[in-house]
Amino acid sequence: MGLVIGVDIGGTKVAAAVVDENGAMIEKMRVDTPGQTAGSVNDAIAELVWKLRERHEVEAVGMGAPGFVSADRSTVLFTPNLPWREEPLGAEMTERLKLPTIVENDANCAAWAETRFGAAQGSDDVVLLTIGTGIGGGIVLGGQLLRGGFGIAAEIGHMNVVIEGGLRCGCGNKGCWEQYGSGSALIRDARDFARHSPSMALRMLELAGGDPDKITGPEVTQAAQEGDAAALELYRVLAGSIGYGMADLAAVLDPSVFVIGGGVADAGELLREPVEKAFLERLTGRGRRPLPKVVIAQLGGEAGIVGAADLARLPS
Ligand SMILES: [Zn+2]
Repeated sequence: MGLVIGVDIGGTKVAAAVVDENGAMIEKMRVDTPGQTAGSVNDAIAELVWKLRERHEVEAVGMGAPGFVSADRSTVLFTPNLPWREEPLGAEMTERLKLPTIVENDANCAAWAETRFGAAQGSDDVVLLTIGTGIGGGIVLGGQLLRGGFGIAAEIGHMNVVIEGGLRCGCGNKGCWEQYGSGSALIRDARDFARHSPSMALRMLELAGGDPDKITGPEVTQAAQEGDAAALELYRVLAGSIGYGMADLAAVLDPSVFVIGGGVADAGELLREPVEKAFLERLTGRGRRPLPKVVIAQLGGEAGIVGAADLARLPS
């Protein structure tokens, strides 16, 4: 198959690109996501893809959606930040675009892209964590994307890591992993720390103009990069939460590579090294088993588009 179009549908932007078989983007376009109705979102996507379709000879379209997608890669079952409920997006777009169109969960797309063309290239057993506002995930096992029985596999941020007394999660449960191992958790802890121990958090407070509630990820990261002890401690605590959850995933899935992506992964080695350390402290059977690699994602924000495009090449 020659060129395909990959689309990454987000709550604020829709980005689309023509992608070749090596995962390289030939031309990329983006528009703001019109939020109100499923119809207006679908129109914006169709219009964007049609522009690219007119300018290039393409054979298929792959779309990454931020939510639950049916195992047959066609229906968006539910999206927390977009107005789709049981939306037959694949069938509608196949009809409107006159091209075979598949839909896949966006984090699954990113995991596929990192496995085929990015940080986990050459491995068949990969777990991607996207550490941002929450924790997203995608899993490739035996060279195949893991979808599960209903298409909803790899919602790893909602593993219940605290059995009792856990923090309330956006999903309605308590104690979900993303309440402890996400960028939101880092910010919550940093603000709490600055409120209770301002004299220890001087650098982060200075970067945030003196207001604990204005501390966000970049302030913590900058302070940590400068060697600030409080910021480094916050990263160590975050990394501990991430690493412990990874040990659980390794106990179940035995991946050869963990890829850490998402906005928080921009911190690079500052995050990777303590995550790997915490993970190895908790990994079951350590010392008696080969150790998986822990690497930072390479494709950044493009992973969703590239993965969606490449998945469109696979037969449904
Ligand atoms: Zn949850």
